[in-house]
Amino acid sequence: MALIVQKFGGTSVGTVERIENVAERIKKFRDRGDDVVVVVSAMSGETNRLIEMACQIEEKPNAREYDVLLSTGEQVTIALLSMALNRRGVPARSYTGTQVHILTDSAHNKARILDIKEKNMRTDLDQGKVVVVAGFQGVDEQGDITTLGRGGSDTTAVALAAALNADECQIYTDVDGVYTTDPRVVPEARRLDKITFEEMLEMASLGSKVLQIRAVEFAGKYNVPLRVLSSFDEPDFDADGSGGAIGTLITYEEDEMEQALISGIAFNRDEAKLTILGVPDKPGVAYSILGPVGDANIEIDMIIQNISADGTTDFTFTIHRNDFESAKAVLTRVANELGAREVVGDDKIVKISLVGVGMRSHAGIAGKMFKTLAEEGININMISTSEIKISVVIEEKYLELGVRTLHSAFGLEQKQG
Ligand code: ADP
Ligand code: ASP
Ligand code: MG
Repeated sequence: MALIVQKFGGTSVGTVERIENVAERIKKFRDRGDDVVVVVSAMSGETNRLIEMACQIEEKPNAREYDVLLSTGEQVTIALLSMALNRRGVPARSYTGTQVHILTDSAHNKARILDIKEKNMRTDLDQGKVVVVAGFQGVDEQGDITTLGRGGSDTTAVALAAALNADECQIYTDVDGVYTTDPRVVPEARRLDKITFEEMLEMASLGSKVLQIRAVEFAGKYNVPLRVLSSFDEPDFDADGSGGAIGTLITYEEDEMEQALISGIAFNRDEAKLTILGVPDKPGVAYSILGPVGDANIEIDMIIQNISADGTTDFTFTIHRNDFESAKAVLTRVANELGAREVVGDDKIVKISLVGVGMRSHAGIAGKMFKTLAEEGININMISTSEIKISVVIEEKYLELGVRTLHSAFGLEQKQG
């Protein structure tokens, strides 16, 4: 009937029993005539366990060997799932990234997919077999194993769906779709039937880890119909045309659709900020500060430069919390060179963002956001806006309160639009 790529995340394959359940689900799709390509993650906790072992040996393990290690988690689950399928009379074959030949660049730990060979998969599908592919991994031109960054199995699934021109890419996880915010933080969060690629991309890049950013980018670029669903709900083939429960469909923006003002709230706990105080204010100062930080491979997120007073200025930027110490060391060196007064830092900050394409045509959302936070006594450290999002940096201890209060102030628990 259809060619479907189904991805199952760590919790969904977290035990042998759950793997058996996944096999049962796949069998139902096969029984109704669908061709199925499956992508699996490692069992939940396994990738973290492997990382911990590597870090016991070395703080920054060799990147090539690190990828050899991390890719083993997924090799376990493809084999177990294929066994469970074969035992049920559903012929299946497992493939590592190298065996499929998912070609990537050589950026170990964050490789990008360049090309996928379909031949083996097509042959198996033509013979009525289920193809089971290890997520999160590929191989570079030298034949070295690479991995795609945390959460990368989502990207494997979308890339396979694009390469095979699949009818749908279904991402099965431990929640039944994309919610207005993380339902673990706000129990009243509401599942969205649809969200646009643009909004999903913002949500993912602003911290909602339900889908890896690159998976959303890929799906948007190659027009892959993408759906997030729960692996714990029974498939309901009558629910819609494509099979399975409805979940959340990631779609293009539809003109006639009345857009909700705010679609969701994303947050990121992995933030830290650094400020260099009393820098002589002259042309090139931003470059002389941020250049060395970039050279140290540290990604910068928000940047603020204060209005200059007495010929000096202050400069603040945010980074990933893991880079805090190394960025501080770089900045301290730069401060000495520039004759700046002081470097101060804070690694107990978080970022909360409102996301919605409806914001484009409505003023006053930022004001309401700031007022809502002020009424709870939450101080805003930094602000950044774009057409479809507003982000604020606040103290970490106010994260839950901030997200919950904003969720209710904007009425996100009720259906809008
Ligand atoms: P998997 O192992 O299946 O890839 P992840 O843990 O990567 O699952 O992603 C699912 C989790 O994403 C959920 O358990 C939920 O806590 C979290 N999450 C964060 N933001 C959202 C959101 N807006 N909607 C749904 N889930 C979200
Ligand atoms: N197992 C990898 C991780 O934990 C990839 C994934 O689950 O998507 O990040
Ligand atoms: Mg994930």
